[in-house]
Amino acid sequence: MSSDLRGQHAVVTGGGRGLGTAIAAALAAAGADVTLMGRGAADLESHAGELRRTASGRVQAVVCDVTEAASVTKAFDAAKEAFGDVRILVNNAGIAPAVPFLEITPETWQATLAVNLTGAFLCAQQVVPSMMASGRGRIVNIASTAGLKGYARVAAYCASKHGVVGLTRALAAETASSGVTVNAVCPGYVDDTDMLRAAIDNVTGATGKSAADARRGLERLSPRGTLVTAEEVAGTVRWLCSAEASGITGQAIAVAGGEVMA
Ligand code: NDP
Repeated sequence: MSSDLRGQHAVVTGGGRGLGTAIAAALAAAGADVTLMGRGAADLESHAGELRRTASGRVQAVVCDVTEAASVTKAFDAAKEAFGDVRILVNNAGIAPAVPFLEITPETWQATLAVNLTGAFLCAQQVVPSMMASGRGRIVNIASTAGLKGYARVAAYCASKHGVVGLTRALAAETASSGVTVNAVCPGYVDDTDMLRAAIDNVTGATGKSAADARRGLERLSPRGTLVTAEEVAGTVRWLCSAEASGITGQAIAVAGGEVMA
């Protein structure tokens, strides 16, 4: 199978918990040397340990706050020192505060943009030079269907994820002739994640619906009628990192069971 990523150094931000663990597992299963980045050393080390039990490539955990330029530089220096130049970057770290528009504080607004958008920018700047020089690289930004359409009560999140899609398109235009691809994966609600649980709590808090009814409402956003799984998202990421996907750049691919984008 030519999704063979042996010998390629892949960095996954937010790789210690949530969706990032499934993405890191999919890349490790394809043979990549995987660096997990995030703030929580315990989560990172624990997941790195799990991956090492089955991965054919190497796995390391590197602490990084993607909102801090100095932290990002230090983390990528350490990651490259151990596993060499980064060939695959998955910008997955994200936060999703959910409140009505008028209740968004400037601090929440800035924090959301800092993790979701500035974090992706800072990490991409660390890898683009060596990717372009080598003539091969893959950047996959985990945006959201909220990067393609608007949803109530998540204005900061929607704005940040629309920004991620814009960053993806602009960087793809700049790197297209160099063998580097830059794409966004836009999941709908992913089953059994903390973000899903927070979204269900948000709906129940706002509407008084039961958790089961709130979940059914989220499921009905897609014609498929079920939430997407972390493995479906991770599989899409792995494919975009493969040689077969070399002709695809600047795209925002919804993994959302057919939910119609605006
Ligand atoms: P989680 O809340 O489970 O995990 C978020 C991850 O981001 C954690 O690994 C966390 O690690 C990391 N992170 C947060 N802040 C920072 C920071 N400042 N620096 C470094 N890492 C950070 O979220 P999900 O796994 O559900 O979401 C992952 C991505 O997928 C996000 O970008 C999200 O927007 C997107 N997405 C998720 C959907 C869902 O339904 N779950 C739907 C659509 C998109 P730590 O706290 O250790 O730093």
